Amino acid sequence: MKKGRFGKYGGQFVNEMLMPALIELEEAFNKFYPTQAFQDELERLLRDYGGRPTPLYYAANFSKLIGCRVYLKREDLLCGGSHKLNNALGQTILAKKMGKTRIITETAAGQHGLATVMAGNICGLDTEIFIGVKDIKRQVSNVNRMKLLGAKITPVKSGEGILKDAVSDTLREWTACSQTTYYLMGSTVGPHPFPEIVASFQSIIGKEIKEQILKKREKKPDAILACGSGGSNALGAFRPFISDEEIRFYFVEGGGESLGANNSAAAFQLGKPGILHGALMQVLQDEYGQIKPSKTRAAGLNYPGRGPEISYLCETGRVKACYALDEDVFKAVRIMCRTEGLIPALETAHVIAYVLNHKSEFDKDENIVINYSGRGDKDLKAIMRYYYES
Ligand SMILES: *Cc1c(COP(=O)(O)O)cnc(C)c1O
Repeated sequence: MKKGRFGKYGGQFVNEMLMPALIELEEAFNKFYPTQAFQDELERLLRDYGGRPTPLYYAANFSKLIGCRVYLKREDLLCGGSHKLNNALGQTILAKKMGKTRIITETAAGQHGLATVMAGNICGLDTEIFIGVKDIKRQVSNVNRMKLLGAKITPVKSGEGILKDAVSDTLREWTACSQTTYYLMGSTVGPHPFPEIVASFQSIIGKEIKEQILKKREKKPDAILACGSGGSNALGAFRPFISDEEIRFYFVEGGGESLGANNSAAAFQLGKPGILHGALMQVLQDEYGQIKPSKTRAAGLNYPGRGPEISYLCETGRVKACYALDEDVFKAVRIMCRTEGLIPALETAHVIAYVLNHKSEFDKDENIVINYSGRGDKDLKAIMRYYYES
C-alpha cells in the first residue's frame, strides 16, 4: 500500500506551504517514537499521571439485559474523562523532542482541548486552542477548565463557527508558524502522517484489552464495538486485533435526530468519498461536493468526515458501519446509569444504544468488548434537559 494511504483513502491534499511541516513531522515521528527513551517517558506518564492501564470491567447487570458477556474498557477513568489523553500526551512528548515551544489544536466538546492543555503543562509547552463560537457557548464547563489550566482560547467565527471551521483555521495558523509550533491533531484525520500517529498512540487501548481479556477468559473477544467520528478510539481498540479474521468490529456513528438530510452526522450512511482537511475520506457533502455540517447531540461525534483508515475498513467490510439515533442514545444513558451506576458520555452511549437495539447479533456464549470512551459529566445538562424538561 502507498505511504499514507488506506486503499484509496488518506494522502496529503494540502497547500505546498504545509508540505515541509508534514515531512518534518513524519521524520521526527519515525526517529523518536521507536526509541526506548520515548516509550519509557510515555509509559511513565500514562501510568502515573493518566492512570493506565484502565480496567476491563465485566458489566454483569448490563450483560444480563443483552444476553451475552459484555466487558467495558474503561477509558472514562483515564485522567480527563476520555481516551483523548493517550494521544495528547504522546504527541506533546514528540513536540518537545522536536524542539517546539507551542502547541495549537482545535476542539469541539472540549475533551481534546482539555487533554492537550494538560499534556502541554506537563511538558512545559504553551497551548492555544481554537474553538468554534457555537461550541464555546455549548461547552461552558470544559472551556472553563481549559482556561483555568492556562490555555489560550481562540474563538473561531468563520464558516458555521463549529469544529470543521476550527480545524481549517488551525491548519492555516500552522502553515504560518510551524517552525516553533506543533499542531496536535485530535483524531485519526488530517493529512498523512497524522492518522498514523494518532492511531499508534491510541493502540494502547487494544493492547491492554488483549492482555486483560486473555487473563479473564483465556480467549480473545468475539466482537469489539466503539463509537466515533474520526475513528481514534475505535482504531485504538481494533488495531491490535485486525489480523484475527474471526473477531467482529462495529463502528457506531451519530445518527442524529433521524437519517434525514440535515439532521444527522452519519457519514457512512449518507456521505461519499471526498477531500476534507488534507485527506480523502468518507464525508458528508451536498450534491455540489460542498461539505455539509453534521448534526448530533454528541459534540464529540459532530465532524462531517470519517478518517482514512476507518473509511477503508468500513468500505472493505472488515468493520461494520452502524449508527444510533439521539432518542435511543438518551435512553441508553439511563439504562447504563441504572444497571451499572455509570453515567456514560453521549458519544459512548451510541455504542450502548446500538447493543441494546441489536441484541440478536450477539450469541449467548459470546464475550464482547465495548470501548467505553468517556464519562458523561460534560453532558449532564443535555441529559437532564432531555429527561426533565421535554
Ligand atoms: C472525542 C470523543 C469521541 C470521538 O472521537 P474519535 O476520534 O472518533 O474516537 C468519542 N467519545 C468520546 C468520549 C470523545 O471525547
